[in-house]
Amino acid sequence: MSFASLGLHPDILGHLTTLGYETPTPIQREAIPAVLARQDVMAGAQTGTGKTAAFALPLLHRLVTSAHAERAIRVLVLTPTRELAQQVHASFVKYSATLSIQPVVAYGGASINVQLDALRQGCDVLVATPGRLLELLMKNLIDLSQLNTLVLDEADRMLDMGFIVDIQRILKKLPAERQTLFFSATFNDEIFALSKTLLREPTLIEV
Ligand code: AMP
Repeated sequence: MSFASLGLHPDILGHLTTLGYETPTPIQREAIPAVLARQDVMAGAQTGTGKTAAFALPLLHRLVTSAHAERAIRVLVLTPTRELAQQVHASFVKYSATLSIQPVVAYGGASINVQLDALRQGCDVLVATPGRLLELLMKNLIDLSQLNTLVLDEADRMLDMGFIVDIQRILKKLPAERQTLFFSATFNDEIFALSKTLLREPTLIEV
């Protein structure tokens, strides 16, 4: 199977060749068609499986193929840590190098003003940690009314780190009509309970 057979935009395909990506990994093979079909996804996947590209590539495809009059945050990726936020943001920057897409990252422990400047210059994809995102939302510094996709990356670590209340407060501020992608390395009762409140008839992916 090739990336081309998954139906990704030619600009994305051309760039993947430049990056040296030849074949999709197992999670990419399963997740890319489901995300393109706007299905909710619940995926069990460890780091190193190619899970970031599994959601970033189809979401970038959707952003470049749908007409937008203005830039607005349409995709939100929540991550448990600053390091993961930076990594996921770097992946979006890498995969969107040939596209007119602006990814922005926001996390705690760094200047909120620098992050706000980046947001004000235009943002299509926001990668954020829960605490900083909540701060931006509570201060009305950010508009998520155009959001159509939420990604929870490493949901198990988010719960381990005690972010459940923050996540629930963030969810209340998001458009209800959206696609949600849920990634977790491990699953337990708490993870299933959270996924049930978030996902509608999800496609289950285990690699
Ligand atoms: P991740 O699991 O998202 O942390 O990705 C692990 C590493 O695999 C990253 O360095 C990616 O750049 C790389 N990668 C992801 N998908 C592919 C692919 N289909 N072919 C080659 N490398 C890939």
